[in-house]
Amino acid sequence: MDASWGIAVIGSGPAGFYSAGELFRQESFSIKVDMFDRLPTPFGLVRGGVAPDHQKIKSVTKIYSRIAENPNFRFFGNVEFGRDIFQSDLLDHYDAVIYSVGSPADRALGVPGEDLSGSHSATEFVAWYNGHPDFSNHKFDLSVKNAFVIGMGNVALDVARILAKTPEELAATDIAGYALEALRESQLENIWLVGRRGPLQAAFTPSEAREFLELREAEAVVEGGPLELDTESQKILETEAGKDTKKNIEILKQISEREASVKKKRVHFLFLASPVEISGEGKVEKISMVRNQLVRRDDGSLRPQATEKKIEEDAGLVFRSIGYLGKPLADLPFDHKSGTIPNECGQVKDPENGNSFRCREYVAGWIKRGPSGVIGTNKQDSVETVHRMLETFQAEKMEPGQYITVPDIVSLLESRKIEYVSFADWKLLDAHETEAGQAEGRPRLKLTSIAEMLEIIRQKR
Ligand code: NAP
Repeated sequence: MDASWGIAVIGSGPAGFYSAGELFRQESFSIKVDMFDRLPTPFGLVRGGVAPDHQKIKSVTKIYSRIAENPNFRFFGNVEFGRDIFQSDLLDHYDAVIYSVGSPADRALGVPGEDLSGSHSATEFVAWYNGHPDFSNHKFDLSVKNAFVIGMGNVALDVARILAKTPEELAATDIAGYALEALRESQLENIWLVGRRGPLQAAFTPSEAREFLELREAEAVVEGGPLELDTESQKILETEAGKDTKKNIEILKQISEREASVKKKRVHFLFLASPVEISGEGKVEKISMVRNQLVRRDDGSLRPQATEKKIEEDAGLVFRSIGYLGKPLADLPFDHKSGTIPNECGQVKDPENGNSFRCREYVAGWIKRGPSGVIGTNKQDSVETVHRMLETFQAEKMEPGQYITVPDIVSLLESRKIEYVSFADWKLLDAHETEAGQAEGRPRLKLTSIAEMLEIIRQKR
């Protein structure tokens, strides 16, 4: 019997690749990794989530590609867990499984009118402009004048920035071709960022905020004029606030104190406001909000509390950007409140079975800890999972192959007639996209349909 451990990794985003990388770093274990992704393309949110104008961040894929070069690594793209392969298949073929499937859904606001046409989740819009095949047919009415983005995290800032940039600014990116064309026709004049708490509690990071000082044809403003903190907030800034918060306040001050200009669009930062209703005749026409005040809870946190003050604005588009949410996976436990798979240090546990641990199933990334942190956060997270897994192998005195009943996954995929994509196939697609992009002075021209991707791979093989 092959003395290597066989590990399946489900999901090829940062958490999946950092897990594979850490598995290959082990000197006392010989490990083979098969990574599966439901798309023919690897890299998860680096391809489908990171904003197209943040190309530098995307260069992290070079590290992942190096991991993929390991002779003990195989990629099986276009293979979906729960459709093409199932938990029982994985447990038959591998010693253990790491699920690193991310958080593909989104949180709802829970206000009337949220389902009107013109009200979308940021996740939809982000996936759309990034050319995700599941979202390429979505439509966003950009003929309206006012868009409201609810939330003050980095995703909200991404959405606002993409809406605010000029076609020329966007043309230098790898934004999906159809999105570039749609945004070229945009009639938007006002983009509002709505935070339920104050500037000190904003979830965005300084480098993302700073970009609003540099938009070519959009002026950023802080609603309410020059930023002045109340006494309580000023005290917090001086005593409790971290480095990023201090920088955020400096940037917001800079934004709020700038001379008004005659740029075409405006991005309004509106703090201490929450939507209470989205309304209109069959589509979004108005947004009603309440003004909030902050109250300190017993646990010390500052939470928003509605006041009597109301705000009503004309709105044509609303994007809720209040956090991603995990989806349950077949045959795995799930905590609906946090949107994660219950686990301890990455080892899956069954709350309905006395919190017993599953020795062969693990999680990494957002499905493990929830949708927080930057790409690099997943490295530490995956390292923890891998070590927990290897410690369990030792504690349980497991041997490689002990539970494996079927030798290789390829025969199963072939018997099910699944057209899987290898990493070499992906490289063909990658070369095709980048060559097509270079011809137009863009980093890449993304293919946005799975059928088209498979066709190109078949032609180039
Ligand atoms: P996030 O950072 O958790 O921000 C969510 C925002 O939604 C917060 O402002 C939050 O306000 C607000 N919110 C939550 N529930 C709300 C409600 N019911 N009503 C109104 N507002 C509500 O989430 P995210 O922006 O989706 O980002 C996810 C992760 O990806 C973050 O860690 C982010 O930093 C990362 N990311 C990084 C980059 C980058 O590095 N460039 C880009 C995109 C995403 P409260 O604070 O009041 O809860």
